[in-house]
Amino acid sequence: MPGRRTKIVATIGPASDPPDVLRGVFEAGADVARVGLAHGPLQASLDRIRRIQDVGRDLDRPIGILIDLPGPKVRSAPFPESGVTLVPGGVVRITEAAATDVSSAEVVAVALAGAVDALLPGDRIALGDGGVALVVLDAGAGDVRAEVISGGVVRGRPGVALPEDRIALRSPTDDDLRLLEGLLVADVDSVAVSFVQSAEDVAAVRLAVGSTGPMIVAKIETGPAVTNLDDILRVADGVMVARGDLGVRLPLEDVPHIQKEIIRTGVAHGKPVITATQMLESMVVAPTPTRAEVSDVANAVFDGTSAVMLSGETAIGANPVAAVAAMARITRRAEREFDYEGWGTRLGQQQMAGLHDAPSPTRITSAITAAAWRASVDAELAAIIACTSSGRTARMISRFRPKCPILALTPQPRTARQLAMAWGIRPMVMDTHGTTDDIVWHAVESAVNLGMVRRGDLVGVLVGSPTDLEPTTDVLRLVRVR
Ligand code: PEP
Repeated sequence: MPGRRTKIVATIGPASDPPDVLRGVFEAGADVARVGLAHGPLQASLDRIRRIQDVGRDLDRPIGILIDLPGPKVRSAPFPESGVTLVPGGVVRITEAAATDVSSAEVVAVALAGAVDALLPGDRIALGDGGVALVVLDAGAGDVRAEVISGGVVRGRPGVALPEDRIALRSPTDDDLRLLEGLLVADVDSVAVSFVQSAEDVAAVRLAVGSTGPMIVAKIETGPAVTNLDDILRVADGVMVARGDLGVRLPLEDVPHIQKEIIRTGVAHGKPVITATQMLESMVVAPTPTRAEVSDVANAVFDGTSAVMLSGETAIGANPVAAVAAMARITRRAEREFDYEGWGTRLGQQQMAGLHDAPSPTRITSAITAAAWRASVDAELAAIIACTSSGRTARMISRFRPKCPILALTPQPRTARQLAMAWGIRPMVMDTHGTTDDIVWHAVESAVNLGMVRRGDLVGVLVGSPTDLEPTTDVLRLVRVR
């Protein structure tokens, strides 16, 4: 059985900043570091990124770096830090926050110009993680009254979720674009875009980073993003099931089903999908996860997720290394029960999602990777090796979830780091030059040297013709290791 196939994304924060903890997080199995940009100055994030890159060099492993843009999160003016309790049945006023305003048990001041005027009777407003919810009773002339339908304690500046069909929040914000510009010098591998609503939002980030910029991961956390999922997947390089905000904006009981749909659709497009938030939440303070959390992570593996993510567990938790180690154990165990052949068969019976308007090289890569998956079953391949420059060939074979290991060889160090997020792929930097025969020979030799295959094994090698004007993976060679 190959090594762990489901990748682990660990959010790096104050708890994982100390050098021994940071190194421990990756030694315990984290494949990708997520750096959130919602808090703290840009320079602190740049320093954190540099420290993670140093660990990658020390461990001689391609560690991916995913930066997470804050997006247009609306917050309230501050409630007292000691907290106030909003009681079900109570009535509060909703006002627009001025710089000096505070919120209280009687008034919720919302820091978004024009939002209060747009509210209508019957609108639902959620505060924080969604536990506290209000419904608008009457509205007019900037004076809105709302009833508390679900109560709780609020403190600080909780997020305020407003009806997103009328109070549209555009992503990326000017602040996001400014942060992106400042971060491009750091050679990050991927950018997560918060509160995406449509494919146009992703296109705006692509315009800002350029076609050779980092991969773009669209966070699916709003109702419109769920509706526009297919269009978003045509332009994004990956998606995140951002369950925290999804559970605030949509009914909580819908979240598991939306998760399955996002994973199924994302993988059908050949794009990595990260399942995020509260996966091992209790480990922020506790030494072991709850039974429900273990089941949640295992079920995400069965859903076919490419990666699972740790947030507070590694950013502010009591023991970030233990959280990653637990995640690695749970995913590995679940992978023993995954229905590899069923997944590939289902995918092999349908055309790749988004293919009908795709350019010819994408269609050819789709066909040749489907053939490689078929060969992995019929000819019982010991491994598939994808020689890839952009990483696309490797991601396209990964969508079939083959049972045998996948080795991706690329001359581009950044491609190797980006593939750290893709299911089942072991990325490695290798200078692929010479004729197709030379490349195949080097590829098989690399797999032997890594101990992935042995004499007598049959290996499938996916490679392009180096002399082609339009580089496309158009060769599948089955090689018996001699
Ligand atoms: C989420 O909402 O689940 C999420 C991942 O986003 P953030 O952590 O930025 O709130």
